[in-house]
Amino acid sequence: GVLPDWDDVERLVAQAFDRYRDRDDGAQADYIPALAEVDPNLFAIAAADVNGGVHKIGSVDVSFTIQSISKAFVYALACDRLGRDAVRDRVGVDNTGLPFDSVMAIELQKGHPRNPMVNAGALTTTSLVPGETFGEQWQLIRETLSAFAGRELQVDEQVYRSEALTNQRNRAIAQLLESYGRIDVDPLEVVDVYTRQCSLLVDVTDLAVMGATLADGGVNPVTGATVVSPDVCRDTLAALAASGMYERSGEWLFEVGIPAKSGVSGGIVAITPGKGAIATFAPPLDEAGNSVRGQLAIGYLSRTLGLNVFASA
Ligand code: GLU
Repeated sequence: GVLPDWDDVERLVAQAFDRYRDRDDGAQADYIPALAEVDPNLFAIAAADVNGGVHKIGSVDVSFTIQSISKAFVYALACDRLGRDAVRDRVGVDNTGLPFDSVMAIELQKGHPRNPMVNAGALTTTSLVPGETFGEQWQLIRETLSAFAGRELQVDEQVYRSEALTNQRNRAIAQLLESYGRIDVDPLEVVDVYTRQCSLLVDVTDLAVMGATLADGGVNPVTGATVVSPDVCRDTLAALAASGMYERSGEWLFEVGIPAKSGVSGGIVAITPGKGAIATFAPPLDEAGNSVRGQLAIGYLSRTLGLNVFASA
């Protein structure tokens, strides 16, 4: 098998949960008011392998908004439809070393977003998704993220409205990109599609299956549906390795060794190609914006399940 035996994985997932369930450091993001109201004690882990097996524990029935984790899957969608080079002309693949919502990062690069996992790059990526109208773009994004998850995903209208009322900074970023000629459609409509994509509700199993689809060359291991090509998965994981864990991505690779994406609502998905994915949900975040309990649990499972992509044994 690609992971250890079924019972061993069950036991290790339960151990990861027990080891870290009482960690209460970190803080929830409050720049999106609705996110600050979520119960900080929620904690869930799911592991999905490329054969369609899923192991899970904790608050697995709780849904949360996908937030920045959507950036990885919308990037995969854009690369699949447009080709890697067309996307790369607009969005680079290096870490900015700066926070995800940095305006300075855009200025330093003369308007060229450095990577698809910061807001400037993600807004640009969303603007590139095919569609005659913003409604069609949004529909394709929702359908594709649903195909990654293997079920139809819905928007959390309350979180969407909360962010739409408070996302002046993303609107500024999109208009700055327009001024540099990087976004050539209405930037405020792009922000709206992006805000909806961030407000899609997932549970930890959805995230694990979405990740396992990237681990499995673009085939959803539960539904059998082909979502994107193997080349797109390879390229997306490379971009995640460089910048999926905000400006702590290098540290994360060094400690845990798995391409991963985190989001401000407290989710993380970590993907080992050819093997599977681990997803976690725990709202309190460290200073960079990565879930504290999630990082610890995935670190433990990376070591015990042999998921570190740099480890030879
Ligand atoms: N919707 C959030 C924003 O654009 C996502 C941020 C994140 O998860 O890092 O600010």
